[in-house]
Amino acid sequence: MALTLDKTLEAANGNAKPDRRAPDLPLPPYLGRSVRIVGPVVNVDMNQSPHPKNQRGELGKPLFNWYRNTVSKDPLTRVSAPNHFADRKQFLTSVVNRDNKGKINPKRMPVADPAAMTRHIKAVARYMGADVVAVAQAHSSFLYAGSRYVQDGTAEDAYQTSSPADLVRKFPYVIVATTAWDYDKLQAHRHHIGDSAYHVSQMKGVVILKALEGYIKELGYTALRGVVTPQAAGVASGVGELGRNGLVINKTFGARIHMPDPILTDLPLAADQPVDIGVEDFCKICRKCANTCPTNSIPFGDKVVHNGIEKYKINWLTCYKLRPYVSDHWGSCLTCATVCPFTKPNVWWRSLTVSALSTCPIPARPALVRALKWIDDRFWGVARNNRVRWLSYDSGIKPGEQACTVAGCTASHDGKAHSPQMVGDAGYYAPLKENTNRFVKRDA
Ligand code: SF4
Ligand code: SF4
Repeated sequence: MALTLDKTLEAANGNAKPDRRAPDLPLPPYLGRSVRIVGPVVNVDMNQSPHPKNQRGELGKPLFNWYRNTVSKDPLTRVSAPNHFADRKQFLTSVVNRDNKGKINPKRMPVADPAAMTRHIKAVARYMGADVVAVAQAHSSFLYAGSRYVQDGTAEDAYQTSSPADLVRKFPYVIVATTAWDYDKLQAHRHHIGDSAYHVSQMKGVVILKALEGYIKELGYTALRGVVTPQAAGVASGVGELGRNGLVINKTFGARIHMPDPILTDLPLAADQPVDIGVEDFCKICRKCANTCPTNSIPFGDKVVHNGIEKYKINWLTCYKLRPYVSDHWGSCLTCATVCPFTKPNVWWRSLTVSALSTCPIPARPALVRALKWIDDRFWGVARNNRVRWLSYDSGIKPGEQACTVAGCTASHDGKAHSPQMVGDAGYYAPLKENTNRFVKRDA
């Protein structure tokens, strides 16, 4: 594995220690207030990340079987969620990612003004459907070690033997283009409705990024995929700040955005900068995500240094382990994204609040955060349990009590096709936090 930062780089990012770098070593990148590089970073080997480990059966039989052998009962999930399709050819993400790589146009378009090109590429990405687009200056610590990684597909290219340092010298920019999940549907998290918000927007993101990759190649430049860690590029490019919940929190959409595989490129661009929207200040006080996480995977305590990076460290394994036990009823938990006070509809009062927080002097922010947290708890609830009705889905119905979720379906379902009449506005969200001990080991 490549070691991309030396311990002597601690002077960067606001540390008071003197800069003792070797002259040829680059400064560690500034990633904003929510996450800092404070020590040596070993490039992450994607073969050791959750999905590849699970594919090799290293995370236990329940997760392995869920990942490899579970066909979702929900038709929308079957066409939009990775690995739970009945027929892979009906899962668009798989079809798109498995397509062969396109060629680079040999007639390269010269770029005289990188800032103008940045505006242009952002406009193209937005027109293709991206909700958020930003550019990061590439840094070797953002890159994966070794082989490329694209889930359900391939990202092989001619530069797979290049070191991270060589890659960022040759391809200095990262384009982050992403989609947001529908706010109203996300309220029915831990339900097929929330799954749909998540997976359908994820599928759109895959198509947009593939189209953008092709567009860059048509301009005569390289576009590499499966190379860059999305979260690192997300905070470096100012898409958002890293929250206690391990998600990049955006000023417009909060935590309801994907962090898909970004594009590493040599297209001349102007990099954006990290942002300060107050996530750092909010997370110190709030802890709503940690309080409501059904598996206690989110820390209540301070940040820790993990692989040279100071951040809140979630326990991905306990988060992941929940899935096989709930797959009959939903696929993606999303509780930590939904309850986050930054995740609100994109309306004027939300923009005003984020603007007030981000322009407030830092010493005065704790008082403002306490006031905003009180308002959030009072008006939006400590835990979300809204009832959402959409198509023929209804999150007020206990999972398992409705046999069919397809609007207008007339098929026979062993007498279980009709939903019980439900009253009230509370959604049914399973499992409750206190019920998860039996299958997820927790510290406390
Ligand atoms: S279990 Fe749910 S709330 Fe907890 S970290 Fe995972 S997705 Fe977030
Ligand atoms: S819910 Fe609160 S603590 Fe968690 S990420 Fe959002 S602001 Fe931070």
